Amino acid sequence: MKTLAADLDGTIYKGNLLLPKVKETYDFLKNIGINIIFLTNNSSQTPAEIKSKLEKLLKVEINIHSIVTPLNVLQTVDELVNSKVYIFGSSNIENYIKEFNKNIVPIDKAESIIIGRKEDVDFNLVNEIASFILSGKKAFCLNKDLTFPTEKGEKPGNGAVVKILEELTNTKVESLGKPDQLFINYLKNYNYEINYVIGDRVDTDIILANKLKIESILIRSGVTNFMNAENATYVIDEFDELIKILFK
Ligand SMILES: [Mg+2]
Repeated sequence: MKTLAADLDGTIYKGNLLLPKVKETYDFLKNIGINIIFLTNNSSQTPAEIKSKLEKLLKVEINIHSIVTPLNVLQTVDELVNSKVYIFGSSNIENYIKEFNKNIVPIDKAESIIIGRKEDVDFNLVNEIASFILSGKKAFCLNKDLTFPTEKGEKPGNGAVVKILEELTNTKVESLGKPDQLFINYLKNYNYEINYVIGDRVDTDIILANKLKIESILIRSGVTNFMNAENATYVIDEFDELIKILFK
């Protein structure tokens, strides 16, 4: 059985709107025995919340193991599970992490830090995090996406703050998202065998496929890309064009 890994934001949906031709194509591919899994960098919703959103939009049952997000990857990182962690992010990320790490502490008590997306960024706090990193402590981020698509247009993503921190500290913040190594390790360790990746971002979806040495399909329904579309094996405009590619 072939497995297709689909990105979510900008590929399957935008905000709460399913994108055109996704439902028909999803049903068709499932009916002919294509396994479909979902790989997202969106960490503002938990895997369980994404599962119910997909079930509502696609009107089908979704197995939670067919969804991989940076929050799944986070649970496999020892420094974030077994040490005192400071969370820079929204309260739902904090609630999720508290389920397996009870040592959520203020920044001055922390041994490691996790950087998520926040609606409002306090730059004094960003400077404090930079000093934390410069003192030799370990920082992780959920992803490095500079923007993400919504039904109201693109919004600044997680990666904007991470980029500032990397420039301030002249270090790399380790990412739990696509296309970075911890995400790839997670797919390998949990035996996700993928044949194709479809997504709207070159820097995450297409580069992930290239690192996995599999074919990639760039769909032009989501963000504006700053990296070249030539990195993708195929480029399509509408979701149903995928069918032709899978039957080449
Ligand atoms: Mg996307």
